[in-house]
Amino acid sequence: MKVYKFGGTSVGSPERLRALIPLISDGELKIVVLSAMAGTTNELAEISGLFSSGDREGAAGRAEQLRARYHAIADELYSSSTWGEKAHDLVDEHFNYIIALFSREFSRHNEKRILARGELLSTAMFHFLLSECGISSLLVPALNFMRIDKDGEPDYFYIRENLKRELAAVKDETLIITQGFICRNVFGETDNLRRGGSDYSATIIGAALTAEEVQIWTDISGMHNNDPRYVSNTKVIRNLSFSEAAELAFFGAKILHPSSINPARMKNIPVRLKNTLEPDDEGTLITSASALKDYTAVAAKDGITAIRIRSDRMLMAYGFMRRIFEAFEAYKTPIDMITTSEVSVSLTIEDPSNLEDIVKMLSSIGMVEVEHDQTIICVVGDFRPDRVGSAPEIFEALNDIPVKMISYGGSENSMSILINTSDKITALRSLGEKLFD
Ligand code: ADP
Ligand code: ASP
Ligand code: MG
Repeated sequence: MKVYKFGGTSVGSPERLRALIPLISDGELKIVVLSAMAGTTNELAEISGLFSSGDREGAAGRAEQLRARYHAIADELYSSSTWGEKAHDLVDEHFNYIIALFSREFSRHNEKRILARGELLSTAMFHFLLSECGISSLLVPALNFMRIDKDGEPDYFYIRENLKRELAAVKDETLIITQGFICRNVFGETDNLRRGGSDYSATIIGAALTAEEVQIWTDISGMHNNDPRYVSNTKVIRNLSFSEAAELAFFGAKILHPSSINPARMKNIPVRLKNTLEPDDEGTLITSASALKDYTAVAAKDGITAIRIRSDRMLMAYGFMRRIFEAFEAYKTPIDMITTSEVSVSLTIEDPSNLEDIVKMLSSIGMVEVEHDQTIICVVGDFRPDRVGSAPEIFEALNDIPVKMISYGGSENSMSILINTSDKITALRSLGEKLFD
């Protein structure tokens, strides 16, 4: 069995939804994971933002605009009035639900219920389309099987058992449709796998069922060697190892959710990145085999906060590191990069929500400095310990840019560099020219 995931652009219009049918209709049993239509989750997040700020009227107005957009999509998508009317009812059901939430208190749980509407709508509308076209399919609600544990990690035992039970209902259908992104948390509440999470849903399902392959269909023909949003002349990488792809995803290559490679790597399931707009292009294949090029790709991750702890007492002392790590552990905040000198430790975090408390705790150890608006540049390539000559090329490219931190030697296939976010585009372009042109 294969798992196919189609992202926002791939389901972003009636035309795109219709174009999916030939891509999945080869008669083989497959699970089709869909994202929300492009722009919907952003719109729902904004609606929920208005709700959280107390502007219920504004939120309701925006929700009505989105409802009207979905009615228009339904009018265009179906040829028969029977399916058109069914879709109108479905759209109303979801938007009435959102509007009804506005009479309650805002909570993070209500926000997640609102965000979930995008995937619930796209999958149900696509299921209707297949039915109208006479293609039998089964819509399996992700909320019946997808679950995260208290640490936010996939609960594989629960997922496998419940997915198996849901799939037992398969009769003649070869297409199983389900929602990406959404899940239940440890309390059974509606939650999600964070933005871009449909990729992660697909690989979690793939791992739970030990699928033959996971295909991630998007709007570009595979992983490129640099960020195509900022750099021209980027080139597709045909083969990547799980580790290389995982580093690129983690360090900002938006084509993949940061955690999405882990489930596939765990079960050694090939992941193929494909383009819905150019379905014949072979895209990128991610397996356990390494590409092993000097330089494979560059990616950038924004929104990083750097923290430096300095104390003369650190000199020749032990136990400091433990105390520093305890502050981050106490507030469940992962550390991305770390470098040390004799009297100071610099590290970076992505999630600043508990920064104030962390800084308070660290202040008992030494002097603390915090810098916001930082970016980690990750160069993926051959960084095995016996390799010579790669660092000079990288630093030559970054000659005019202040380098804040370097992490080298932690991974055999990547090196990370911290810079100011304002220097990101220059850094990506300059590395692109030096390493790939
Ligand atoms: P989807 O909605 O299908 O999940 P995303 O927008 O999440 O699509 O991911 C695809 C986008 O990722 C591309 O359009 C591209 O702009 C961006 N991207 C960033 N870095 C890379 C990269 N290294 N290779 C390919 N695409 C990348
Ligand atoms: N719809 C969700 C988002 O926009 C999940 C996804 O697209 O993968 O983040
Ligand atoms: Mg995505």
